[in-house]
Amino acid sequence: MLDFVSVSLSLTDKIGMHDFLLAKEIIDKILEIAKEKKLSKISKVSVEIGQIALAHDGFDEHVEDISIDNLRFGLENIAKNTVLEGAKFDIDKIEGKSYNIVSVET
Ligand SMILES: [Zn+2]
Repeated sequence: MLDFVSVSLSLTDKIGMHDFLLAKEIIDKILEIAKEKKLSKISKVSVEIGQIALAHDGFDEHVEDISIDNLRFGLENIAKNTVLEGAKFDIDKIEGKSYNIVSVET
């Protein structure tokens, strides 16, 4: 079992809090999908990312620009030791205040 607190601390050293929190949320959603569909391996995920407002560390919800490179780095790291390990992440920026998991390929 990996120690998620130490992983998150070392990751947020390298990437922004929003990149990290969003990566964590996306991975959790995909793992839920994988569980539902009984997928044992995921090779590729496509996501679209808008302007995401997040609350953290006592701040109210606010928007910070999400870096695609940082988000990918976070996704790849959080995916370790899951069915998502080694998956390719395609990330597109979109208008609006949401994100979409467009496709999940095994
Ligand atoms: Zn923030």
